[in-house]
Amino acid sequence: MGFPVGEGAPGPVAVVLGTRPEAIKLAEIVRRLGAAGLLVHTGQHYDAAMWSDVTAQLGFGTEPIGLGVGGSSRGQQLGAAVAALDATFARHRPSAVIVQGDTTAALAGALAGNAADLPVVHVEAGLRSFDRRMPEEHNRVVIDHLADLCCAPTATAVGHLRAEGIADERILLTGNTVVESVLHLLPSESVQDAVVAGLGLPAQYVLLTVHRPENADNPAVLRQVLSEMAAIADDGLPVVFPAHPRTLDRLRGNGLGDLLDKFTVIAPQPPAEFLALQNRARLVVSDSGGVQEEVSVLKKRLVVVRRSTERPEVMGTFASLVPGGLRLAAAVRSALAEDPAALRDVPSPYGDGSASRVVVEAVVKLVAPF
Ligand code: UDP
Repeated sequence: MGFPVGEGAPGPVAVVLGTRPEAIKLAEIVRRLGAAGLLVHTGQHYDAAMWSDVTAQLGFGTEPIGLGVGGSSRGQQLGAAVAALDATFARHRPSAVIVQGDTTAALAGALAGNAADLPVVHVEAGLRSFDRRMPEEHNRVVIDHLADLCCAPTATAVGHLRAEGIADERILLTGNTVVESVLHLLPSESVQDAVVAGLGLPAQYVLLTVHRPENADNPAVLRQVLSEMAAIADDGLPVVFPAHPRTLDRLRGNGLGDLLDKFTVIAPQPPAEFLALQNRARLVVSDSGGVQEEVSVLKKRLVVVRRSTERPEVMGTFASLVPGGLRLAAAVRSALAEDPAALRDVPSPYGDGSASRVVVEAVVKLVAPF
């Protein structure tokens, strides 16, 4: 089903984003909307070099309207983004607003869309960690209750929405757009070889990412996580660490820079290269949300370094949870002892790669019902 264009057609569909994972998971929706899409980047995590890597690979086919919203606190970012989006919506008169996930940018998009009387569509609705210490938990609850259409990735997410009294007609089970993102971005085997060789990495390694505030902003936890991972490197298995700038900052600021000596530290990678590294790793250790989903498509095992997760669907199969880095090395050693082939036939709980198509079809019906 194509989006209606031409005279009398509804206005464009605004797609609001502010961070790398949103760009990755909204890419297929943006590609499908084509000329009917109005891509708006709030500037929440806008790094020009990283953004150009991401967009070159995602093939958005359109430059986003950049709002350049800064602000030192979450409240300032939120207020500034809502005001800037309100002005953008007044100028471009979209017919609907799509937001994804649980960021400040997504909440701002939902608030501004609602204030402008536009239908709001929430992609990846219904996730719950039930951990009220995480700002993302509040963001996702508020967005779901504002949204006119909650696109839930799994039956578990549908259950959360229903339990909070969201009416069935506002809920659509779509699968998760991460599946098609991975299928689109994962390079061929020979390019994966070239990525690993180009970075000078060994054939066997553990891939580590740590950037969440609960780990990076707490020096005791950060020391614990990295010391436990240093023990894995001491076992003789190299640990490859694409270090997020935030984590490097915190490490050096807290006199923990020496811990990096144990790891093969590399720069954050563009999405396709990072997927290649995940796919070739013996094991992944990460606090990322998106990585928890990606491993289910790549059939890799993951140790999640977090207090809580909003993605219970992968726990016990692809992933296990280790809070605060406590006994992380033991958890990693036991995950390494598992047979990697055992995951080969375990289906991803996130669907078959059709979520973006289903979302766009639902948006067409919402803005042009006849
Ligand atoms: N990612 C990437 N390069 C990296 C590390 C991660 O492209 O060096 C991708 C990863 O594959 C996933 C997304 O970034 O798609 C996850 O983003 P992040 O960990 O920043 O946020 P979260 O998913 O925790 O919200």
